[in-house]
Amino acid sequence: MTSPEEAAAEAKHLRAFLNYHSYRYHVLDQPEVSDAEYDRAMARLREIEEVYPDLRTADSPTQRVGGPPSTQFRSVRHDLPMLSLDDAFQVESVREWYERVRRLLELESAARMALVVEPKVDGLALSLRYESGLLVQAATRGDGTTGEDVTANVQTIRAIPLRIPLEGGETPPLLEVRGEAYLSLRAFERLNRARAEQGEPVFANPRNAAAGSIRQLDPRVTAQRPLAFLGYGVGRREGVSIVSQWEALRLVESLGLPVSSDARRFEGLEEALDYCLDWMSRRAELPFEADGLVIKVDDFELQDRLGVVGRAPRWAIALKFPPREETTRLLSIEVNVGRTGVVTPYAVLEPVEIGGVVVRQASLHNADYVRERDIRIGDTVVVARAGDVIPQVVGPVPSLRTGSETLFAMPAHCPACGSVLSRLEDEAGTYCTNAACPAQRARHLEYFASRGAMDIEGLGEKVAQQLTSAGLVDDVADLYRLQEEDLLQLDGFAEKRAQALLAGIERSKERPFARVLLSLGIRRVGFVVAQALAEEFGDIDSLAAATVERIEGVHGMGPFTAAAVTQWFAQPQNRDLVERLRQAGLQLAQPKSETSTGPLAGRTLVITGRLEGLTRSDAKRLIFEAGGKVSESVTKSTDYVVVGEDPGSKLQKAKSLGIAVVGESELLALLSGSGPDR
Ligand code: NAD
Repeated sequence: MTSPEEAAAEAKHLRAFLNYHSYRYHVLDQPEVSDAEYDRAMARLREIEEVYPDLRTADSPTQRVGGPPSTQFRSVRHDLPMLSLDDAFQVESVREWYERVRRLLELESAARMALVVEPKVDGLALSLRYESGLLVQAATRGDGTTGEDVTANVQTIRAIPLRIPLEGGETPPLLEVRGEAYLSLRAFERLNRARAEQGEPVFANPRNAAAGSIRQLDPRVTAQRPLAFLGYGVGRREGVSIVSQWEALRLVESLGLPVSSDARRFEGLEEALDYCLDWMSRRAELPFEADGLVIKVDDFELQDRLGVVGRAPRWAIALKFPPREETTRLLSIEVNVGRTGVVTPYAVLEPVEIGGVVVRQASLHNADYVRERDIRIGDTVVVARAGDVIPQVVGPVPSLRTGSETLFAMPAHCPACGSVLSRLEDEAGTYCTNAACPAQRARHLEYFASRGAMDIEGLGEKVAQQLTSAGLVDDVADLYRLQEEDLLQLDGFAEKRAQALLAGIERSKERPFARVLLSLGIRRVGFVVAQALAEEFGDIDSLAAATVERIEGVHGMGPFTAAAVTQWFAQPQNRDLVERLRQAGLQLAQPKSETSTGPLAGRTLVITGRLEGLTRSDAKRLIFEAGGKVSESVTKSTDYVVVGEDPGSKLQKAKSLGIAVVGESELLALLSGSGPDR
């Protein structure tokens, strides 16, 4: 260790670094450095404070939880503090923790101490206060003592019941449920893609996306983010007699709140560690971002005896995953043209292995991202990967610059068609506004044909490019004029393949109006919006004639969406496209009776667990199209619970209420009208 003077100077520097980055992370939801870098600085400060305890000031980041609550929200004082967790980066450190705890408790050497192991989902901690069963307050952790009142926002999260218990059962007079609000990886990726396309700043990771979604001044914004929630404990309570963490989890679950199905109770350390290692090896398969596992002493009485030290309880420890970030060199920055014409930069990297995958390219989102983070060509950069999410450049490591790095400038012309690029005043994105741009056309064609849209088999990225560059398809309406001999000109197309594609195109004419609307590729019109517009307006002409105010009046529509829709229909070439799609025979109206006559008309379904052949959103869409409704929670009025792999607590709930439980194949049968009857 260094001299006292050097240590003092280093500690001062580290405190400033940690305070600044903690503020960016916890208050602004905009971290600049990787968690690993932050954790290293924290570990170093701890090390210095161990050797020189005088340097451990009361306001040292090692002693504090999170960041101060934002003044934009009413503040909430927590009845019981919401704490942080101490970290372990190796299994050995967990063993040391366990032994330390047993010594403190003066347990007999042979005595075992039960532990609960839970995933450490990376999101935002929430405290939910239920009085006489009603959700009266939701708060963030803030600095651990005082949090932010985010009740109105949390009320929009469907996984969180507004009243507990959901069905029958005892209602505790007071119960504070604690848990993590988070975004699944898929939801995160979708959200960021949409934001980048709209030219809005992207979130660095799912944790920041969840935090940014909840710490919103407008609850309508929160409502549009697909937030999930997992309860992991209780705070203040009255009228409930639980004596352990495991009982707390079961209580929370029985009241209708989601609880991780991966939580387990073990009688002793070794079994718990086996489970940790096994679970952590499955990291790549997790549908959410987790930064490790939390190991907790089960017995509340032992927890009370152990108490808290500094900012974390002694009775719990977080076993962290190794970071999924690496540094490498950024060789060049190229740009891509998306289906809406948005031009996005991406990084070409010196290949680097991250979590078992060789990464060569990474997303840079938009020009503002590159500028704000001061990412330069030739920089050594931090690259992060989360699950299957496209890798992204987190930021440069300025200390490794050699001086030969160069600044990036967005090209003035579209790399695909050469036309001048423009930047819309109210948005950060740069656009190619040439509707005839071949790159845009190919992208739109690919999107139009994709599974969630018109679902044309055999028309993927490559074929879309072939069709546009051969001049066969200028816009999507041209698809419906294709002849077999046109396709035979293309590389890799013989009679059979050409006929199959034509048959796929023909079948797409049956897709319902909402899907056609979605496929048009209007900005901000995703599946939910398309469905709502189709239902409200019934046909494309009524929608095309609607004013911004009229569209804004539709439930769930914001001013930007309304403007995007009217702007789209105002363009003559788009109206012309609609006409040609009409002539081709696409469904541009929704039969009034459609939703009430499908095979699932009037039925409510709940999905739990992972489905094999269908994504969640595909399943939801198909159910919707068959006239059914998908709900997030199981109640007496649920007709079927569809169960996939690793089902959650909804399965037990269904069983206890005697609701029909079906598998994926039975769901498909139900959709086709031949399923088990109720
Ligand atoms: P933490 O996030 O590591 O641990 C405490 C939190 O874990 C709780 O508040 C809760 O939200 C969460 N949690 C998830 N599952 C849980 C479970 N089953 N039981 C209990 N809690 C559970 O600690 P922290 O103090 O909030 O933040 C430290 C983390 O934030 C570190 O990983 C650090 O790298 C990161 N950080 C990063 C930056 C940056 O700039 N990159 C800055 C500050 C903090």
